[in-house]
Amino acid sequence: MRIGYGYDSHEFKPGIPLKIGGVELPHTHGLAGHSDGDVLLHALTDALLGAVAAGDIGSYFPPSDPKWKGADSAIFLAEALKQVRNAGYAVANVDSTLILAEPKIGPHAQKIQARVAELLGVKPDQVGIKAKTPEGTGTDNAAIAHVALLLIRS
Ligand code: MG
Repeated sequence: MRIGYGYDSHEFKPGIPLKIGGVELPHTHGLAGHSDGDVLLHALTDALLGAVAAGDIGSYFPPSDPKWKGADSAIFLAEALKQVRNAGYAVANVDSTLILAEPKIGPHAQKIQARVAELLGVKPDQVGIKAKTPEGTGTDNAAIAHVALLLIRS
């Protein structure tokens, strides 16, 4: 078994699409970033890579490379999953916490869970999606994601 952990944050910016966990959510602001800014998929990608000690998202997709501008973060996740499979592991389960002031994740949590499970090739009940507001942290202008996961020998 291997354990993985990933973290990411992105700043909210008005007038751009908001993508979290591969799902576009209706909101006035999106997440600024070199790619599509999908904070959850980035934390998940790092957790997968970390679990097999295969570097981090930036070592595969450097933000300095114009090729990844506006990229669908599902591409990053697919590469990390490939590294996991090459190392002989499969995803047992994933747990995540999103921290953001808006929008409310609750109404979209099932959709995000289903999409993340689909991207990972696992069942929805292997993917935990939780959300909190950034009480007292002063990070209302950002979305933050923490991901922990467990891999088992495939
Ligand atoms: Mg990121």
